[in-house]
Amino acid sequence: MSTIRERKDVPVDDQWDLSPLYASPEAWDADFENLKGLSEKIEPLRGTVGRSKADLKTAIDLNTDWDRRAERLGEYAHLRTAENVADGPANERMGRFTALATQVGAAFAFLTPEIQAIDDATWTSWIADPLFNDDRISLEKLRRYKPHILGTEAERVLALGGEARGALQKAFSNLTNADLEFGTVTIDGEEKPLTQSSWSVFLQNPDPDLRKRVFHQFYGEYNAHANTLAALYAGSIQQDVAAARARNFSSSRARALFSDDVPEAVYDNLVSSVHSALPVLHRYYQLRRKLLGLEVLHHCDVYAPLVPGAEMTHTWDQAVDLVVEAVKPLGEGYSRVLGDGLRTQRWADRYENKGKRSGAFSAGCYVSPPYILMNYKQDSLRDVFTLAHEAGHSMHSWHSVRANPFQHYGYTIFEAEVASTFHEQLLAKLLLERTNNKKARAAILGKLIEDTVATLFRQTMFAEFEQQVHVHAEAGGGLTLDFFKQTYRKLLDQYFGPDVVLEDVSALEGLRIPHFYGGFYVYKYATGLSAALALSSRVLQGGDAEREQYLAFLRSGGSRFPLASLKLAGVDMARPEPILSALKVFEGYLNELESLTS
Ligand SMILES: [Zn+2]
Repeated sequence: MSTIRERKDVPVDDQWDLSPLYASPEAWDADFENLKGLSEKIEPLRGTVGRSKADLKTAIDLNTDWDRRAERLGEYAHLRTAENVADGPANERMGRFTALATQVGAAFAFLTPEIQAIDDATWTSWIADPLFNDDRISLEKLRRYKPHILGTEAERVLALGGEARGALQKAFSNLTNADLEFGTVTIDGEEKPLTQSSWSVFLQNPDPDLRKRVFHQFYGEYNAHANTLAALYAGSIQQDVAAARARNFSSSRARALFSDDVPEAVYDNLVSSVHSALPVLHRYYQLRRKLLGLEVLHHCDVYAPLVPGAEMTHTWDQAVDLVVEAVKPLGEGYSRVLGDGLRTQRWADRYENKGKRSGAFSAGCYVSPPYILMNYKQDSLRDVFTLAHEAGHSMHSWHSVRANPFQHYGYTIFEAEVASTFHEQLLAKLLLERTNNKKARAAILGKLIEDTVATLFRQTMFAEFEQQVHVHAEAGGGLTLDFFKQTYRKLLDQYFGPDVVLEDVSALEGLRIPHFYGGFYVYKYATGLSAALALSSRVLQGGDAEREQYLAFLRSGGSRFPLASLKLAGVDMARPEPILSALKVFEGYLNELESLTS
C-alpha cells in the first residue's frame, strides 16, 4: 500500500502552477494591502449613483475594479487552502481576504438600491450610451428585478428577517449531520460506524443482507425524527411561498426560475418528457435485478454497482491522452489547447496528498488558467471521466474568458453542467470504440447508465416532488408528515415501477434531500445532462456548422440567459426534443448492455 504524501513532498510536475495568479505568497500580501486602499473610495459615492450618467459609471467602475481584483486574490487564497486544508498561512490569508470582502460588500450595499431607484426613461437613455457597452448586460440582469423590489419600509422589514430565514436549513443540517445517531454495522466481523458518508458505501456492498440491514438501520433513525424533519421542510416551503407572494411572483417556482429567465414550461416539459420514458427506466430495474442475481429487487439494492468494475488501469498521462483525443470532434485547436493546458501549462493538481480537498473541481479567474483539482487514482475508470468532466468546465471558462469582458464572463450553473457532461459523452464514445472486451464494455455502459439514472431520472423525480408540495402549499393545503410521505411514495412507485419492492421507510427519502432547502434547484441537473446528451449526439453526427454552434455556446459565457445561449448551440430547452433525444441515448446504452449480458 502506498502512503499518502505530504504536500511539501509533491513533485512540481504533479502540482498546478499558480504563478500566473501570484508569483509568491508575498506578492499576494502586497496586492492585498493595495486593494485595502480601495475601500476608502466607496463611502463618498453613496447617494451619487443616480445623479448623472457619469456618476453612475464612476460607481460601477469602482465596483468592477473591486470585483476583478478581489476575484484574483480570493481565487489564490482558495486554491492554496484546497491544496492542504490544514495549511496555517493559507488559512490565515483566506481569513484576511474574507474579512475584507465582507466589509467591502457591506460598504457597496447602497449600489443596487440606487441603481433600481433610477426612473425607467432616464435609465433607458443613459444605458444606451457606448460608455456602458461592457456593463450593459450585467446591469440589465440587475434591473429586471425592479418590479419585484418593494418600497423602502417593506424592504427594511424583509431585510430584518433575513438572518432568521437560514435557520431551517441550518437546523436540518445540524440534525442530519450531527445529531442523528446511526450506530454501527458489523462487516466481515469488524464493527464500523454508520454515518451519512459510510452508508452510501455500504449500500454498494455485494452482500444483499448487509445492504438491507444498513438501509433499515439508517432510515430507522430518520423515522424516529420524522415529525421534526417534516416540520422543518414544511417551514422551508412556507418561506418559499411567502417570499414569492411578498415579491409579486405568480408562484414560488416562478420566483426560483426568474434569475435564469427560465419559463416554467421548461420545467413541466422536462417532467412530462421523462414520464414518457418511464417504461425504459423500468426495463433498467429489471436488468439490474437480473445482473445482481436477485429474486426480488428491493429499494436497498438500487445503489450496488450494476456491473462490477472491469480491471482497467490508466496512468495520469494515459488518462490525459484519452481525454485530449476524445474531444477532437470539437476541433484540433480545441484539443490542442486542452492538451497544452494539461501537459505543459500545469492546469491540474493531479493526485491526493495529506490534507488536500477531496473530490474534484474546476476553478480559476479572469486572469488565470482554468485550474483543475483532482485526486486521481489510476485504477478508477470513474476518475478518467472526472478528469474529462472538469476539463469540460475548464474549456468552457477558457472560451468564455476570451470572448467576453470581465463583467459578464461568468456563466450560470444551468449552463455549466452542459459543457462538463458533454466531455463525458465524448470520452464514453471513444472508450466504447476502443474496447472490444465484453466485460470492459459492460462496465463502461453500466457507468453511463447509472449516471443517467441518477441525474436525468432521479433529479426529475425530485423536481416533480418539489413542484407538487409547493403547489399544494400555495393552494392552502396542509404540509403534514403524512402528506409528504404519500406524495413521495406515489412518485417512487411511478419511477421505480413494478420490479422494485419499496419499504415502509422508503418515503422518508423525500425528507432527506439537502437541496430541497434551496427550492427548485435540482431540475438544472436534469436539464443540463439532457442538453449535453442531445448536443453531443448533434455534434458527433453533424459537421462544421454543428461544431461551430457548440463553440459559440461556450463563448457566450454570461452574455445571455441560459436558454438563449443553449439556442446558439442548437437546442431549444423549451421544447421536448432535447430531453427526448437524451432519453434515446440512454435507451441506446441500455439496449446494448441488455444484449451484451443476455
Ligand atoms: Zn460539474
